[in-house]
Amino acid sequence: MHKILVIKFGGTSVGSAEAMQQVVSQIQIARQKWSQLVVVISAVSGVTDLLLSGARLASLGDEEGAYKVAHELDAKHRRIICELLQSTKEKQFVESRLDTHIQEFRSLCHAIYVLGEASPRALDAVSSLGERISVHILAARLRETHCDARSVLSSTLIRTDSYFQAANPDMDMTRELSRTHLLPMLEQQIVPIVTGFIGSTESGAITTLGRGGSDYSAGILAVALEASELWICTDVDGVMTTDPRIASNAKTLGTIAHNEIVELASAGAQVVHPKAIGVVMNHNIDLWIRNTFNPEGSATQVLPVIDVSTTQKRRAKAVTAVRSQSLIMLEGRGMLGVQGIAARTFDAAARVSANVTLIAQTSSEQSILFAVPSIVASKVVLELEREFYREFEWNDIEAVKVQDNVVIVTVIGSGLFATSEFVGRLFTALGEKNVDVLSISQGTTGGSISVVVSKADTENSVRAIHELIVGMA
Ligand code: ASP
Ligand code: MG
Repeated sequence: MHKILVIKFGGTSVGSAEAMQQVVSQIQIARQKWSQLVVVISAVSGVTDLLLSGARLASLGDEEGAYKVAHELDAKHRRIICELLQSTKEKQFVESRLDTHIQEFRSLCHAIYVLGEASPRALDAVSSLGERISVHILAARLRETHCDARSVLSSTLIRTDSYFQAANPDMDMTRELSRTHLLPMLEQQIVPIVTGFIGSTESGAITTLGRGGSDYSAGILAVALEASELWICTDVDGVMTTDPRIASNAKTLGTIAHNEIVELASAGAQVVHPKAIGVVMNHNIDLWIRNTFNPEGSATQVLPVIDVSTTQKRRAKAVTAVRSQSLIMLEGRGMLGVQGIAARTFDAAARVSANVTLIAQTSSEQSILFAVPSIVASKVVLELEREFYREFEWNDIEAVKVQDNVVIVTVIGSGLFATSEFVGRLFTALGEKNVDVLSISQGTTGGSISVVVSKADTENSVRAIHELIVGMA
């Protein structure tokens, strides 16, 4: 049996003719070693946002605005096609696919305009168009370079539930469908160019796996095909110790563990979608994070979960910041020992679809403090006031306080926080920079610690912690 490699390229990797040409080179390099290759790609960068903005305009009654977006989408892709493709035959073929999909976008926007609303199902039909277009462009360019490539719609491979906009795969069905469709192609040395982000329900409706979901698609397919390796190709040299725009001495990590990268991704580092890691974990798939634009450069290998109890080398690996957060605090003497307050609090947050990014509770139980993205903070407060109106009347809860403009700074490293030593150094370093720590929380696996600081302290905090990491390396 041959070994299979799945490679995923993100939006910036297919964002222009030059970028696509880099992708072609990367695929050629990979083909020298791998006879069976599956490529998963995103939409051209910015396209998914544009598609959704068109749908939003249509739902607000601005049909003209939506048609302008159609025009922009058409021009954006046409430019890439013109610059990239050489043969008239391929050009004509891809342009006809583009025409069809732009027409589909206009029809969907018209329907949304007439209805005056865009259902999650309609939004998935719209937002999936970017990938449905980009696969044709890349496949055509590969054929021009004598690689037998074929575009494949992942709605024929990935079966999901009907949770539109964040659908969940049915792995058994997906395994069967992907193997039936892709294995015969791989045996004939054909390279499938598969749409990321997209699945379909049993009845054939298009679903998407959530924003940034192409990584997840690649992970799902790697598992379904029992691939040996999965490469996530992006526009930075693998996973870095921090954002090089904040600390110029940031470095690529040679290795990182699954649990560490999940913490990192959840903590705002946009290296790889956490769900992609979740799905490949425990599947004996070698995972690499590489740079499309620097194929021979540094890359990061993602290793199986590190067992904290046996880890000899405990060190901080990376630090990252999640911006635009608000802290919400529920306070009151009547909360003491009362059961269910925490459950009701987070239930209320979930009702307004707020993603709780950090939780801290004092042992006196007189307050619950948590963070949410600022964009949903006022909705959460309203919902909490509604949920606890009785407790407010009885003065069991005295206030719901909000602090905007805060940032969650998270440092990652397996087993690190089993030792108190690092924690001490962490706070000393922050103290030396006069950073006020507003709250602290430790990750569930003990592999991370987060501090909440005000927005103005972001750079100082990240740099101070990064210096500790560099010093430990
Ligand atoms: N194109 C989709 C998005 O922008 C999926 C992806 O890029 O991973 O969210
Ligand atoms: Mg993307």
